Amino acid sequence: MKVYSPSATKTWERCPLLREAQRAGWHTVVHDYGDLAMIAGDAFSAGMEAHNLARMSPGEPASVPVVAAQTLFQERVEHVKASGGRFEFTAKNQEAALVMEEGLLEALAFTVENDPAPPEWQVVAVEQSLGPEAGYARPDVVYELPPECERDESGEQVGCRVVRLTRDYKFKLASDKKYDTERVNEYLASGQAHHYLHFGHSRYFNSLIVVAKPKPRFVGLTAYLEYDGKMINRWVAGQEGKWQAMHMQETGLLPLWESEQHEDKWGRCEMWEACLLYDRDPQRMLNGGYIKIERR
Ligand code: SF4
Repeated sequence: MKVYSPSATKTWERCPLLREAQRAGWHTVVHDYGDLAMIAGDAFSAGMEAHNLARMSPGEPASVPVVAAQTLFQERVEHVKASGGRFEFTAKNQEAALVMEEGLLEALAFTVENDPAPPEWQVVAVEQSLGPEAGYARPDVVYELPPECERDESGEQVGCRVVRLTRDYKFKLASDKKYDTERVNEYLASGQAHHYLHFGHSRYFNSLIVVAKPKPRFVGLTAYLEYDGKMINRWVAGQEGKWQAMHMQETGLLPLWESEQHEDKWGRCEMWEACLLYDRDPQRMLNGGYIKIERR
């Protein structure tokens, strides 16, 4: 059974054709606010990777988190431009886009300074691939927590076990506090959360949202999804059906199908013109506002 990463599975669930287009590097020439926010999210993770590696191996040469984040952010933006893309923002998000880099660096500095993992949590893995059996998924950071010990009725300690917590970072430039709970619940119910509990052999999964503006704050710091065998088995059974279909499509045993929803809560699918106007003809796409970008 070939296993796919949480992000690949999520895109495929949205539309197998969209996943294929992204794998091939297709993108609209115009990159919008969402694209810039995605680059900032990757840059934030790169900064935290540098921080957590330094924490895992003190004394080893390490990158400075804000430098790692800023370098990745600027390189990605330049890569888009060098590939023929351009950033365009609506009047509504123009202002936010202009402070994206600044917000990213402020939120990162805040997170490093107020490391949300207590010193007794030991960093045991940073951006480490879980291998082909997990679709090469790479959790941001894995901690070993102080042992959880059980006592019998007389209060005697009867056993201890070491447990792991996997944490994923989500960077947001701004987010209305009234949606905090909704966002936290969404991440804890995600395929990614189940994927890391199952394949990462973690007892807990936490998605830490770091909001930059108006001033940096953490959301969901103490909200965890805890491993539950029944829940995970149910999830695995469902995923296996999807992964089987994904693999059959990749190997040509099953045709790629089109989603009937060409829009979602983020708006119109970026491949809308390609699918509905250009019959996904590469030349017409290149003439009609699409480029191919090497994935990084
Ligand atoms: S436009 Fe529709 S069919 Fe085409 S990739 Fe997007 S969701 Fe899929």
